[in-house]
Amino acid sequence: MNIVEKIANAGVIGAGGAGFPTHVKLNSKAEYVLLNGAECEPLLRVDQQLMEYYPEKIIGGLYEAGKFVEAEKAIIGIKKKHKEVIEILNAKIEEMGLSGRVEVGILPDVYPAGDEQVLVYELTGRVVPELGIPIAVGCVVINTETALNIYNAIRDIPVTMKYITIAGDVPCPVTVKVPVGTPIVEVLAMAGVLDPTAFEIIDGGPMMGPLMKDVGGYVTKKTKGLVVLRKEHSLVARKKREMKSACNLNKTACEQCRMCTDLCPRYLLGHSTSPHKMVRAVAYGAAADENVTVAQTCCQCNLCEYFSCPAGISPKMANVYFMGKLREKNIRHKSNKTEFKPREMREYRMVPSKRLIARLELASFDKAAPLDAEKEYMPEVVGISLTSHVGAGAKALVNVGDHVEAGQLIGDVEEGSLGAKVHASIRGTVSQIDGNYIVIRRE
Ligand code: SF4
Ligand code: SF4
Repeated sequence: MNIVEKIANAGVIGAGGAGFPTHVKLNSKAEYVLLNGAECEPLLRVDQQLMEYYPEKIIGGLYEAGKFVEAEKAIIGIKKKHKEVIEILNAKIEEMGLSGRVEVGILPDVYPAGDEQVLVYELTGRVVPELGIPIAVGCVVINTETALNIYNAIRDIPVTMKYITIAGDVPCPVTVKVPVGTPIVEVLAMAGVLDPTAFEIIDGGPMMGPLMKDVGGYVTKKTKGLVVLRKEHSLVARKKREMKSACNLNKTACEQCRMCTDLCPRYLLGHSTSPHKMVRAVAYGAAADENVTVAQTCCQCNLCEYFSCPAGISPKMANVYFMGKLREKNIRHKSNKTEFKPREMREYRMVPSKRLIARLELASFDKAAPLDAEKEYMPEVVGISLTSHVGAGAKALVNVGDHVEAGQLIGDVEEGSLGAKVHASIRGTVSQIDGNYIVIRRE
């Protein structure tokens, strides 16, 4: 069995939030394999600590993935501020005899340094074309926790555990290791949040994560962070803004200063992304046609929405508005450019993380969230998602009442279809199955 088959068998998906099946991503040849250790979302502390605690496994997983795609080099992208972790990684690369084949690439402490296209440019100097993916310029990008899962998969250990930071307005910010499927309320309690209904919870980082509709759910293979905020926090109000009110506000309040475009990370890479034009198009009631397809080049990083716009309106929402309309009409952006070069002003227009955190009113929550790598939580019940990955949902292979062992395959996708296998994360009895979840009660 080759390593991609092992990765598929272990159910590895992008652990950073994307959920794309990793075995599919590795099914192409590349010149570079890049580790996304930027963790540019404010307050999240998973990747930097995984690299500190498990450097050998992460380097090993990345290197093995690189070997499979025939990459000439593996580069670990990590922000300059993590000096101690960088030293640990460099020492480990040397100790493993991988100098020259694996190296550490230093990233600036800006948002969004972890956007795949920004990461590719920072580490290789190559610009991914508009609407393209990294493989278009010979790169495969892997998240830090995904590399750890690849290392385990090669050793026939499936994905059953998840690392999550719980941060924000909590008594004790912490990063935890829990079985996939652990109830969200139990994870929140680990940071001292005993009454989550008194708060709003962001599923992921403060910039790109959505507000959770309810906290009755379970940890999935792509849960990365839970950010807890009071209901009256300004970011909560921004995240609750709906399309209709955003469009109305955009029509009346845009000054056409174009700060949204000038600071946009995709525009700065030389793409045509122009949120100020999309805001204008919404204001004039423009039709969703070929003139607004640049909206599709937006990666929805929310920088324009939460940082750049001095009027506090919603340029990203203008992009999202047209993306939806264009999708309905099946119209796709065709770039008239063949080469992409970053704009000259790029290095002066990148947004430092500290300034972003201050603007988001999160500075008082910007604290350590330590991981106790030895401690494993054992819930009484887990709800394991069959649909957390990109592609077709997995079909349950077990029935209510069945006994399952931790690591046992309990959900699978049809051969050849895009998707990922699902494993039991604890030993127990299946107590409930619906189209989305398998619930297991610990024995
Ligand atoms: S930054 Fe705000 S006010 Fe300025 S052009 Fe963009 S949407 Fe309009
Ligand atoms: S959300 Fe705004 S800043 Fe981010 S890529 Fe889209 S247009 Fe650019």
